[in-house]
This record gives sequence, C-alpha cells and structure tokens, in this order.
Amino acid sequence: MNHLPDFIQKLINEFDKLPGIGPKVATRLTFNLLHRKDDLKSFADSLNEAYTQVNFCTQCFNLTDEKLCSICANPHRDKTIICVVAHNQDVDSVEKTGEFNGTYHLLNGLLSPLEGITPDNLKIKELTQRIESDGVKEIILALDQSMEGEATAIYLSKLLKKYPIAISQLARGIPMGANIEYTDEVTLSSALKNRKKL
Ligand SMILES: [Zn+2]
Repeated sequence: MNHLPDFIQKLINEFDKLPGIGPKVATRLTFNLLHRKDDLKSFADSLNEAYTQVNFCTQCFNLTDEKLCSICANPHRDKTIICVVAHNQDVDSVEKTGEFNGTYHLLNGLLSPLEGITPDNLKIKELTQRIESDGVKEIILALDQSMEGEATAIYLSKLLKKYPIAISQLARGIPMGANIEYTDEVTLSSALKNRKKL
C-alpha cells in the first residue's frame, strides 16, 4: 500500500517515464523538488510554458515555437544540403561544431527491429518528399555509431540511391557505440569534414 498522497505518486510516475531515470531517481527528484517550493513553482511554470509553446518544425521536425525552426527559417542556410540526425540533441551537437551551414532533418529515432521501430515510425517519407521538392544535392547521415545507427544508415543509403544526390556519412573518428550527443566538438567537426561518400 502506497503511503504517499496521490499527487506525489503522480509526479514520481511522470519522472519515471523519462529516459534513463528509473523509479528510484524519479522518487528522489520528486522529493527534492517538493522541498524547494520556489523552484517547484518555476518548474511548473516552465513545464506549462513548454506545453503551450512547443512545436515541431514542419520542414525538419526540429523543436521550435514557430511554424519553421530558426535554422529552416534562416535564408543564409543552404537548403540543398541536409544533415540527417536521429534526435534533437544531435542538431545541437552538430551546430556547436560551427562547420555546417545546411539544414537538418530529424528522423525522431533510429531503426530498431527489436524495439519494433520500422521505417514507418521515422520521418523518412518526409525526407524523401523534401529531396523531391527542394532541389536537394547532398545528404549527410550523422547517425550514432550503434547497431541501430548503422541499420538506419544502410536503409537510407539504399532508399536514397534512386535520387541524383550525393550521400555521405560522418567519418569514423566517432568510436563504435558512441552517441552523436556525447561526441566532443573537435571529433564531430573532423568527422563532418572527413565525411565519406556512400
Ligand atoms: Zn526546421
């Protein structure tokens, strides 16, 4: 029998749904927050603000509070080069290298037959639509060096072969098993410069 009031258990459950948290950390975060009432208020306000303002760019699926994200809306970014990434945090990582002046396309995940994630679950159809309508010349696959990242890269390179575009993949400076998110800027920057054609 749970001795906690409902509202506390609900908050624990919400934290528990986040990746990499688990019930113990969820409980610790909840108790910590409940003991800091001022922070709790600004946390609640931020969540509320996020809920009302969050949008996904209609072109690349990056997070935004507008119809288009600031990168797609920027006339100086090259729309004919698309860097394909799995997650929002990967856009941040590539942006920090300062080496890329094209646009992005977020797949919202990677292929994973074990977890039941198929091409239909990712924004792949939307990518081919962009290639067909935006005069895209180059696709750079900036995907994690994992089984899922490799599977996704192989699938995409086969699928995109029918288009008259250059397809490249980040160079192997990135160690196997590494996430783009956690790759340092220097390594990522050199992997981007030395990308290899597929
Ligand atoms: Zn965008």
